[in-house]
Amino acid sequence: MISRRLFVLSAAAGTILTGTPLRVWAGSTLDLGGGVRIDTLSDGHLELPFDFSFAGLPRDELDPILQQAGVTGDMIHSPCNITLLRDGTNTVLFDAGSGPDFMPTAGKVTEALAALDLTPEDVTHLLFTHGHPDHLWGVLDDFDEPLFANAAHVMGRAEAEYWTDPATLGSIRDDRQSFVAGASRRIEALGDALALIEDGESPLPGVTARLTPGHTAGHMSFDIDAGGQRVLVVGDAIANSHIAFARPEWESAADEDAALGARTRVALLGDLADSGTQLIGFHLSDGGIGRAERNGDSFRFVPG
Ligand SMILES: [Zn+2]
Repeated sequence: MISRRLFVLSAAAGTILTGTPLRVWAGSTLDLGGGVRIDTLSDGHLELPFDFSFAGLPRDELDPILQQAGVTGDMIHSPCNITLLRDGTNTVLFDAGSGPDFMPTAGKVTEALAALDLTPEDVTHLLFTHGHPDHLWGVLDDFDEPLFANAAHVMGRAEAEYWTDPATLGSIRDDRQSFVAGASRRIEALGDALALIEDGESPLPGVTARLTPGHTAGHMSFDIDAGGQRVLVVGDAIANSHIAFARPEWESAADEDAALGARTRVALLGDLADSGTQLIGFHLSDGGIGRAERNGDSFRFVPG
């Protein structure tokens, strides 16, 4: 029987023999000092119907913002940035990506790790911001075993309970029923291997979970405090580079609880802009690392 390790090695050897070029993507790197480094890895991108994020928004105000951001057409191209934190001891991933079962354009994190000479087995901690497909579905391999076999898996308790609560199937939007089936299957497959944490807990030294609900019920951001710098991994609490900054108070159809999502976003952006803290957004442009700056009554995303 072919083992997972043998299969991965064979695949890597095949890549070398055939000379298939590595994928090119926009990642970014942040050196925090003290031997601590953050890279964002591209898991690929999503192609989302326009209404997934923008249903119900006023087109007369929305269209100029999208036009300025170069967003056109009926499908929205949404990059997926997985944050990788390395401190010389720990190799920490924030979210697992889509895996092969969500969209053909996503689920590429293993390739992105390989470009840094890393394998999924090298990951020591896998911290989930939330249970949507593009963040959670990559957690299991083709054998339905944890792909990141040596990692401590961590998710917010409220988030895990939301996706495994039988009532969620009845309350979630019709077009997201598959999200519930996909998340509950994976959370249940992980079982005791998934540690559940509360707001304010630290899954490892220098990383603190911060409840940022609305996009999902128990969405967590992660505050990284290392090398004398702070960086906030915001997941999908701030979910795109244009509307989320230009009109954070708009209720987004991408959020499970749109009103709560908007309140969380406004508060987070105010904190980030006023403190000058760097942020990393899973779906933000330019690899996702940047700052929020005040821009009159709203904000703008400044990559870098
Ligand atoms: Zn997402």
